[in-house]
Amino acid sequence: MRSHPESIMFADIILPIPFDSFTYLVPPTLQPTRDLRGCRVVVPFGKNKIYTGVVLRVHNNKPEGVEMKEIMEVLDEQPVVNEKQFAFWQWIANYYICPLGDVMKSGLPGAMKPKDEAALKESSRKRKGGKNNLFHEDATATLQPLTPAQQTAMGEIEASFKTKNATLLHGVTSSGKTEIYIHLINNYLERGKQVLYLLPEIALTTQITERLRRVFGDRMGVYHSKFTDVQRLEVYKRQASPTPYQLILGVRSSIFLPFQDLGLVIIDEEHEQSYKQQEPSPRYHARNAAIMLAHMFGAKTLLGTATPSFEVYHLARKERYGYVQLTQRYKNKQLPTIEIVDTKEAKRKKLMRGLFSPRLIEAMQGALDRHEQIILFQNRRGFSSFIECRQCGWTPRCPHCDVTLTLHKKTSTLTCHYCGYTTRIPERCPACEEEKFNHVGAGTEKIEDQIPQLFENATTLRMDLDTAKTRLQFERIISDFAQHKADILIGTQMVTKGLDFDNVSVVGILDADTMLNLPDFRSYERTFQTLSQVAGRAGRNNTPGHVILQTRSADSDIIRQIIQGDYWQMFYNQMTERQQFHYPPFRRLIYIYLRHKDDHLLDHLATEMGNRLRTIFGDRILGPDRPPIARIQSLYIRKLMLKLELNAPTDQVRQALLTLQQQILALPAAKNLNIYYDVDPL
Ligand code: ADP
Ligand code: ZN
Ligand code: ZN
Repeated sequence: MRSHPESIMFADIILPIPFDSFTYLVPPTLQPTRDLRGCRVVVPFGKNKIYTGVVLRVHNNKPEGVEMKEIMEVLDEQPVVNEKQFAFWQWIANYYICPLGDVMKSGLPGAMKPKDEAALKESSRKRKGGKNNLFHEDATATLQPLTPAQQTAMGEIEASFKTKNATLLHGVTSSGKTEIYIHLINNYLERGKQVLYLLPEIALTTQITERLRRVFGDRMGVYHSKFTDVQRLEVYKRQASPTPYQLILGVRSSIFLPFQDLGLVIIDEEHEQSYKQQEPSPRYHARNAAIMLAHMFGAKTLLGTATPSFEVYHLARKERYGYVQLTQRYKNKQLPTIEIVDTKEAKRKKLMRGLFSPRLIEAMQGALDRHEQIILFQNRRGFSSFIECRQCGWTPRCPHCDVTLTLHKKTSTLTCHYCGYTTRIPERCPACEEEKFNHVGAGTEKIEDQIPQLFENATTLRMDLDTAKTRLQFERIISDFAQHKADILIGTQMVTKGLDFDNVSVVGILDADTMLNLPDFRSYERTFQTLSQVAGRAGRNNTPGHVILQTRSADSDIIRQIIQGDYWQMFYNQMTERQQFHYPPFRRLIYIYLRHKDDHLLDHLATEMGNRLRTIFGDRILGPDRPPIARIQSLYIRKLMLKLELNAPTDQVRQALLTLQQQILALPAAKNLNIYYDVDPL
């Protein structure tokens, strides 16, 4: 950096808006004193806005023809974003085709606004520099020894790290993967290295936190999105300080924390979809981004799961990643037996009682008689999917989104699961005045509703987005069920994530078909993953597990593979199709979305964009199409799909897309058009 007093200096500053950076004048008073890169500054923007941003770089190249404003204030003595973080932010922005402003918004807790600083000072004064720990415990446990099978696996992992940057630990549920992570973490901490342990949001429970806390005490910091801004800022600052936590247990956003000497990243339940941020931008995949982060530190990555994603399994088979398997449960506990019930048959014979087949009722009754617990899984919340007029078939839809409203009986409301729009159930059909409605489809609430008629004294808990809105509610349901305060836990996907209940002997899957029939090339992979995970909740400890799976497609291949736990066959069959139809992991996908209030205009613009894209990418471009949900929050949506060969030049593709985007946005009709990308969509 030059520091001639007379030379004028400029700073490129990232602001919390969807652009890369803006150039400002550095006032002479600030110039020679220090390099501002990585420091937060306050700047004026537009007519009367003021933003806090981060200085990306300082330079002397006056930009042409731009009116320049001055930095108002510098907030930091020391940079709050380090060089590794800048490199990582830039990688995210490039790979996921999004502006640096978006990355910064995700990358800094609560945008580290000045008011948060003040709150932080206040709170740490009160707590005398308190830790972020929910549990102020010191390490109490010594490591349990690993079993011989686990020891072998551990040895294989360490050996694979000698030649591979990432390794897949493919171990059945309850085989001791977490136990292995703990030993591995311990090794890295002893060598003075930092470890990042990533879990999907929903799996980061008190259960796992306490288990790790017992071993690592306050060397571990926890980071998740339900923390307040102040709590997150506290962890962030601690990680940037000379005495950071050596172990971070966190959700996807913890990849943005400042690390100093990262040695190992563990990605548990690597197949989990929720590692992908869908909204807002940056739409990054925390697993893939974490592998890149580890790479930047020369660190290793361990990917753990019982049901690998195709992307990871494929790379392990091609020996790009190491591969280590655990096929036995701890203490050789039996994997649960899965029994299929053909509901088509049961319905034809009029044997179904509501959503329950005789076999499921019998198995549940058996468990109740033995004072054992039951988990019921249904992939949909609410009472039923929607209501329908008995007379004319009219169905209430969301006025802002292209979806039917979901019935919630307890509150007598209809709710949009996309934008939250809620309205009362109409007294009569607005189309034909009919007063009676049919309830179509079945959600968790309806299942709960039917239990008392079938099992008189059974008590229930329900876990879905309606009952577990906050982290506290979620934890309460888990701890109540663990203490056997209810016999039956009814839930959506939420009940599948790594929960460990001693006393559950029966798991009922009410309807496997809704998942299988989703119009998505991943629906079989996902159904296999979800149902295997649900099944894995049964018989984890003292009670042998029994899973009843209700389906109308009892004799399909995929159902057979699920019962037999035949991941390989499922993978093999599906991969043949993926290859044939050019889907991942044989191709990379980029979805290009266009959003606008005016459907007609959008049609025109999307077609224009499609045509121009085809001149560059040819038949790698598909669409534009209306996505399954073609309007959200009053904006119409079109989607174009780009299917790229794996060796396509990423930088050139991005440049081409961004150039074309500029051309489209420059069209007079394109005012208020919004264009964004979803790279490696899920
Ligand atoms: P996974 O992560 O593969 O589901 P866990 O590590 O949670 O498996 O292990 C399942 C259960 O078995 C846990 O309750 C764990 O404490 C216990 N367990 C696994 N391995 C050991 C071991 N080596 N020593 C003692 N307990 C173990
Ligand atoms: Zn009607
Ligand atoms: Zn809506």
